[in-house]
Amino acid sequence: MKITKIQTTVSSKYKTAAKFFIAAVSSLLPLQAGKDCFVKSMQKEIPIVIDKLDKKFSQVLLKDLQTIENINTRGGITHCYSDSSLVVLKNRLVESKIKTEYIHPIDTAIKPYIPSTGQFGSIRPFGRLHLGIDIYPRLYGRKPKKPVPVVSVSDGIVVSVKKSPDNDYKNIIANNIKIMSPDGKIYSYDHLGRQNDYKLEKYYPLRDLGTIVNCGDTLGYVGKTGETEIWHLHFSVEDLKIKKEQENNPIWKKLYSKYTDFATPRGQVDPLDNEKAGKISDYLKQYRVDKGPKVDYLDKL
Ligand SMILES: [Zn+2]
Repeated sequence: MKITKIQTTVSSKYKTAAKFFIAAVSSLLPLQAGKDCFVKSMQKEIPIVIDKLDKKFSQVLLKDLQTIENINTRGGITHCYSDSSLVVLKNRLVESKIKTEYIHPIDTAIKPYIPSTGQFGSIRPFGRLHLGIDIYPRLYGRKPKKPVPVVSVSDGIVVSVKKSPDNDYKNIIANNIKIMSPDGKIYSYDHLGRQNDYKLEKYYPLRDLGTIVNCGDTLGYVGKTGETEIWHLHFSVEDLKIKKEQENNPIWKKLYSKYTDFATPRGQVDPLDNEKAGKISDYLKQYRVDKGPKVDYLDKL
């Protein structure tokens, strides 16, 4: 682990977290240079600043988190962290001030684009809501000629994995992976392909829960698993703070009672909204985005 910088000022809200990191990291990682820095920071009661997320530090971040296996209503098993553990992990990541870079989730050389129907808040059959954005690697969502890798938009930790079984003949369960970034947001990648979609010799199975990924690492390939015939990536950004607001919001409660899985409050924000989604929106917006109708009440939330 590399510790490059120690902050000189800090607000009191970081102090508890700083103590946690100092104690936890010191016990788990007895690196001499690192220890010296931690002792120094302990004396000053200031947080540590790590340059890069790495495997050793992830042991500290993931310590005592509760993992769960969730069999969802439409079938498919999701391995993820409990809601309370996700909050703990987010706090640890944000307090540690680990830095990350950002990148577009699909190779931009192939000119991916977001169709008007693929925007956040666009309407789906039966009045359902589209709570992410669709990114097409090819015109009209046709099958790509070659496998199109989907890459992690930032560094992060795998916080949820849902695998579509090979015998899902009705294609109702999507391959999905979610990564929590050092910025505290969760980036979610849906409809990832199956191995036999492209007759791949080399296939990237979905990463396991708790795995560290770096910005640009391949997570899977553009596919059409989970109730779609369009070859595309459904990309969403989730913010746990917004999730709390959604859970207590009467409009969201109504939406959830009507659409359940399709309107589950997970803190979904518009990935193209700079204020809500942060830096990743700038990268996504550099490529073609077709404007279309949006749903008013989502904008008002
Ligand atoms: Zn979508």
